[in-house]
Amino acid sequence: MEKSLKKIGLFGGTFNPIHNGHLKVALEVSQRFQLDKILFIPCYLPPHKSGQEIASASDRLRMVELAIAPFARFEASTLEVDRPETSYSIVTLERVKKIYSDARIYFILGIDAFLEIKTWREYERVLNSCSFIVVSRPGFPLEQAEVVLDPPWREKMMVVGPEIKIEEVERDFPRIYLFPMNSLNISAKEIRAKRKRGEPISGLVPEAVEKYIVENNLYNHHQEND
Ligand code: ATP
Repeated sequence: MEKSLKKIGLFGGTFNPIHNGHLKVALEVSQRFQLDKILFIPCYLPPHKSGQEIASASDRLRMVELAIAPFARFEASTLEVDRPETSYSIVTLERVKKIYSDARIYFILGIDAFLEIKTWREYERVLNSCSFIVVSRPGFPLEQAEVVLDPPWREKMMVVGPEIKIEEVERDFPRIYLFPMNSLNISAKEIRAKRKRGEPISGLVPEAVEKYIVENNLYNHHQEND
């Protein structure tokens, strides 16, 4: 990995599989916040959870690589899948900060994931060590973010509407940016369900990912106890 980049986005997830909804988030966020790089970090999942519903770490990572191949600023990271243990954001964040010691880190996530933040290990330390970019997702109003955290944290939140100049507001660090965007109504769960029913998933994932899923029989209705 190269060093001395200024603004790095971390986009973590199960990516089971990565889909066009994820890509739209990364593309819009990287443009709006002028990020130099976004690291896509598939999480580790214990082997007993793998099978029909959860593809192996190597398959999920490969699909991420295929999906982001056209985009020079996107990079697949093995930081979590390489470690056979529960993935905690604080641990990943500390590791990224060591690698990119001179960078500003932005944690990218959907509002549905942000609503769970109080369950994260050392969530206040995470909030203190990087800025957050919380994006809208169909079915989850962005305003819900304001009731999740206690008042001192709420003061760090701001809605990034079109009138906001990023270079001005980011002088304050860390912050929690609420970014309203036209997210796609796509979920990995829906894609797995379609595969199970034997339905096509075209348009929901990049073509290369669709090809990989079909060729490798992932999430297939023919697999029973795999
Ligand atoms: P599943 O349906 O299996 O729960 P998912 O589609 O939510 O999966 P994840 O890999 O769990 O995908 O999501 C990783 C991150 O991407 C999370 O922060 C999530 O909020 C965000 N995200 C996923 N899909 C979208 C979408 N369509 N629009 C905006 N954010 C999304």
